[in-house]
Amino acid sequence: KKIVFSGAQPTGSLTLGNYIGAVQNWKALEDDYQCLYSIVDLHSLTVKHDPKEFRNSCLSFLAQYLACGLDPEKNIIFFQSHVPQHTELAWILGCHTYLGELNRMTQFKEKSEKNKGNINTGLFTYPVLQAADILLYQTSLVPVGEDQKQHLELTRDIAIRFNNAFGETFTIPEIYTPKVGARIMSLQDPTSKMSKSDENINGTVFLLDDEKEIIKKFKRAVTDSVGVVQYNDEQPGIKNLITIYAKFANISVEEVVSRYEGKGYGPFKTDLGQLVVEALAPVRERYNQYMENKDYLVEVYTKGAQRAQEMAEKTMKTVKERIGLV
Ligand code: ATP
Ligand code: MG
Repeated sequence: KKIVFSGAQPTGSLTLGNYIGAVQNWKALEDDYQCLYSIVDLHSLTVKHDPKEFRNSCLSFLAQYLACGLDPEKNIIFFQSHVPQHTELAWILGCHTYLGELNRMTQFKEKSEKNKGNINTGLFTYPVLQAADILLYQTSLVPVGEDQKQHLELTRDIAIRFNNAFGETFTIPEIYTPKVGARIMSLQDPTSKMSKSDENINGTVFLLDDEKEIIKKFKRAVTDSVGVVQYNDEQPGIKNLITIYAKFANISVEEVVSRYEGKGYGPFKTDLGQLVVEALAPVRERYNQYMENKDYLVEVYTKGAQRAQEMAEKTMKTVKERIGLV
């Protein structure tokens, strides 16, 4: 089977953006590929955090992955920090990555703009660690949201450069984004991406939000004065809501539009809130069950780390040989 790798940073909790852009695709690939889904905890260290809260949040992410339906028998589910080969390879790849390349990364620019007091070098070299995450497993396919496109192109460039210099070592990965929903926007600012770390939490719907919060966030979602439910770039707020609706109702955007022909934004937003609430209720329920069963979570991540390490070590051995380490 070909290999799939993806992950999310365990800061806060999963958003609708993460769910639609990434996790739904993860689930869809689990039968046809050997998938590795990581909780990329080392990436989270690039922002300030409280150790105790962070540890909870890491376990919570594992429970969220499972609650979203990822099967730990089919998939390798693990913490990035449990497989030391990630950081080992990141160093080596960093020696084959140019300063100019990292300077061009828009995520770094955006995150350092938001985080002026803490522009650490981890934030800067983040894409190199991400390249290591992917290349370590000879990954063919990386299911992510559109925001990761630039990082994935860098990963490919590094892999190609390394292969050219030292001989075939890494599989060159392809990006895999959903046709609809690859970039879910903030409900409060439809020109910027919905993010876990957004300060305005009204713009972000979390999978673990309760019913009331979900309904409220959709009701308050920023729209426009056109007043017609239609799918176009002049109405980015409504376009985003239609996208979310289509994903949750499992219908096309055209169908959503025709359902709301002649109706206002009010009923559309109410229905959407209700739709999302109903879809997420079982996820929350399963989440609570997993969180009560810590022993099971430990079992899942321990086994995941073992399986991931075995695969990672194979690549590391080749890499070390190729570059001439004794
Ligand atoms: P952060 O603000 O901490 O970066 P994030 O919401 O961007 O949070 P990540 O952990 O960086 O979450 O990303 C996890 C996955 O979710 C990635 O594949 C990413 O491309 C995808 N993703 C993130 N935000 C969105 C979004 N708004 N729409 C679609 N996919 C998204
Ligand atoms: Mg992100």
